[in-house]
Amino acid sequence: MPPEALLGFAASALHAPLRLESLPQPPAGYAEALASLSRRGVRLEGLFQDVAAALALCVSRGETALVERWLRQLLYTRVGTCAVWDAGIAQEFEAQLKDILQGVALPVVVSLAKILQDSRAHRVGLWRVVVDELRSRILGFGTLGAPCFDRDLLPQALDVVRRSPFRAATWPQGLAFAAAQCAGHSLETAPSVELARLLHAFHRLLAPPQFVSLVVRPHTRVLQARLADANQLGDLLPAVLHSLANGGGRSAAEARWPTWWRGVVIRPWAAQLRRLTALLLDAGPVRGGGRAAYLRSLRGFRLSDVGEQWILPVSRGLGLRAPPGRFVRTALRSLLRRRRRVDAASPWAQRALGFAAWSLRSSVDGRALSRSDGQLTFSVAKEVGLEEHAADLLSADVGFLDKTYRRHGDVERAVLLSILRDLGEHAGAEGRRHVTGNVDIFVDRVTCISCLGVLVQFRRLLPRVCVRVACALPPLLSRHLGYSRYFGVARASPRDTSLAPVSAFEWDP
Ligand SMILES: [Zn+2]
Repeated sequence: MPPEALLGFAASALHAPLRLESLPQPPAGYAEALASLSRRGVRLEGLFQDVAAALALCVSRGETALVERWLRQLLYTRVGTCAVWDAGIAQEFEAQLKDILQGVALPVVVSLAKILQDSRAHRVGLWRVVVDELRSRILGFGTLGAPCFDRDLLPQALDVVRRSPFRAATWPQGLAFAAAQCAGHSLETAPSVELARLLHAFHRLLAPPQFVSLVVRPHTRVLQARLADANQLGDLLPAVLHSLANGGGRSAAEARWPTWWRGVVIRPWAAQLRRLTALLLDAGPVRGGGRAAYLRSLRGFRLSDVGEQWILPVSRGLGLRAPPGRFVRTALRSLLRRRRRVDAASPWAQRALGFAAWSLRSSVDGRALSRSDGQLTFSVAKEVGLEEHAADLLSADVGFLDKTYRRHGDVERAVLLSILRDLGEHAGAEGRRHVTGNVDIFVDRVTCISCLGVLVQFRRLLPRVCVRVACALPPLLSRHLGYSRYFGVARASPRDTSLAPVSAFEWDP
C-alpha cells in the first residue's frame, strides 16, 4: 500500500469510535494519532468535526464526565504550536454547542462550564456560548415558555461565572443584576456553604453601589435572619461575613448602607479579623499548640484571604508596612509588561505574579549578604520543595470554602525562601540577629492568610530586617487595573500564544 493510502486508511480508522451508538472512553493514543496524521499533512477537518459532534452529543445526553476524559487527552497532546483541542476541534465544538445547549438541562450546562474551566479547555468564544446560555436562563426565570431554571443551582452557576478569567471579554450584561433579583429563594433556603458561595459571587461581580441596592437592601430581612443565627452558619460564619464585609460599607461614611450593617456584619467580621491576627501574631506555629493546631486553626477560617477591602488594615495590624512609592512604580511597570504576555486561558493566568527587591547586610562587618534589585516571581508550588524551611516559614494550604491550594510556593514565601537560601551560614539563630536591611514585595493578588503568617514568621526570624509588602490594588494604586492586567489577555485563537506549549505538567494551577 502506498504511504498516502496508508495514512488515509489510518484517518478513516479514527472515525470508528465516533460512529458507535454511544461514544466510548477515549482510546489510548487517540489524540496522539490525530496529531501525528496532522503533522504528516493529512487534512483532518472532517475528523475534527466528527469528534466535536460526538462530544456535543455527549453533552446533550448529560454525559459530561465522558466529555471531560476526552478533553484531557485532546488538551495534553500537541500538534505543532498548539494542543490537538485547539487545532480545530474547539472551534467546531463551539459551533455545535450553540445549537444544542438550549435543550440541555441546567445541571448539565453548569457541570459543562465547570469542566471546561477546570480542565482549561475553555476558549473565549466557547466560554461566551456557555455563559450566554446561563444568562438567558436566569433572565428568563419565571417567564412563561422560558427554559426551566432551577433556583437551587444559582450559587453554582454564578460561581463558575465568577471564576472566569475572561470577564472583560465575555461579561454578559445584566447577568448579575438578574441573578440578584431572583436570589431571594437561595439566600433564604440555601445550605450555609451555598449561601457563602452565592454572596461571594455577588460581591465579586457587583460594584459596591450595586451590591447594596440589589443584594443588601432588598434582602435585608433574610440576611439579618441568617446572620442572627450564627450557630446555624457554624464554621462558615467567617466566609459569609467575609463576602458581605467585602461587598462594601466598610467605613461608616459610605452612603446608602443601612444602619444595621455595622452591628450585624462589620463588627462580627472585625471580631473574626482580631481572632486571625492574634493567631498569626501571638500563637504562630512555634508557640501554643504547635504546627498542627496552627494549620488547623488557619484552615478553619475557610478563607483564602481577608479580601481587598480589609487587606490594608489587617497588614497594618500585623505591623507590615507598604513599600516606598518608587519601588511600587517600578514593580508595577515590570508586572504589567509580563502580564501582557500571559494568555487568559493559560495555567499562568490564575497564578499570582510578584516583584521583589531586597538588600540585606551584616551589622557586624557591613558585608552584603543578599541583594536583588528586582525580580519577577510567579507563584510556583511545583518548583519549591515542600520541606524547605517548612519549620521556619510554615505555610497553610488555605482556600475559600472547600477549595484548598498549596501555598508553600506562593510569591511572598518564594521570595523569602530565596533570601534564606542566600543567607546560608547566617541562618543560625545567632547570625540572624545581626542581619539588617529591607525586603520589598509587590504582588498582583491579595496576600493570602497563609502568606501573612509566613511574613510574620520571617520577621520573627530576622527581627532587624524590615519586610514591606503591598498588593496591586487601591488605595496603593489610584484605581483598579483592567481585568486583563490581573488575569492576562483574552485571545480568540490560542495558536502561537503562551497557551501553545502544552504540557500536562503545566496544567496544575
Ligand atoms: Zn499566599
